[in-house]
Amino acid sequence: MVLIIVSACEDKTPPVPPVNVQDTIPTRDDNMALGNPSNAATDPSSPSNYLMVKPQFVLSYNSSKGEANWASWHLSRAWKGTAARQDDFRKDPELPSNFFSPSSTSYSGSGYDRGHLCPSDDRDGSIADNSATFVMTNMIPQAPNLNRISWLALEDYGRKLVTQGNEMYIVAGGYGTGGVASSTSSLVNSINNGQIEVPAYTWKILVVLPVGKNDISRITADTRVIAVAMPNRFDVNDLSWGNYRVSVDALEQSTGLDFLSEVPVGIQAAIESKVDTGPTN
Ligand code: MN
Ligand code: MN
Repeated sequence: MVLIIVSACEDKTPPVPPVNVQDTIPTRDDNMALGNPSNAATDPSSPSNYLMVKPQFVLSYNSSKGEANWASWHLSRAWKGTAARQDDFRKDPELPSNFFSPSSTSYSGSGYDRGHLCPSDDRDGSIADNSATFVMTNMIPQAPNLNRISWLALEDYGRKLVTQGNEMYIVAGGYGTGGVASSTSSLVNSINNGQIEVPAYTWKILVVLPVGKNDISRITADTRVIAVAMPNRFDVNDLSWGNYRVSVDALEQSTGLDFLSEVPVGIQAAIESKVDTGPTN
């Protein structure tokens, strides 16, 4: 009977929307999509808050501190590849000539590592991308146990989340003054004849999303935000990185910066007041 076929055609069950494969392919997104924490501008007359927009990351350089106020970048599988670590530490050729420009040897003999803000391993999609992370404007003096153990552990955890289908927006920097590089050294406020400040803490914020499009619109009060402040001390690794989790609000107090300013204020308030309690490995 023809009527049976007509009846099936009148079924009002809504169709299952087709999965758009394009929505789940990782992309390289705006490194500063979540905001410019210090309203930095690429203006040579503002040497303490000088915006540098690079294809691989964005930062605000502070010539009086000899390091960045913050660096901001996006991480997804689209940034990842097999390029080898380039280790070509060098002056940043894009700094205005009237600024102090740290060189590859400015940290030599200080006891502090040239610690990446945007990590080498977050940018191995090409040799050029990896090399870009080795400009000295992307470095901050870190006690070796911070750079090589505690800070690295959080970097590795972020990359693990990326392999599990996530993308993320990351901001990092330092605040306060004074580190203790080793068990036999004393508190040091600066290196390189006072030209490079040694921060008391290095901090980082990761905003984690499942891979997708229109990222800001997908951030909700339940989005995972991991914020940490790790002491720049030789004994930092006595505790695992998860013990250094703080709220974004606490980091805004400590740094004077405004993070996640492109996120709607209500959601911003919710995600900035919480301290992450999720897994740490
Ligand atoms: Mn995205
Ligand atoms: Mn904020």
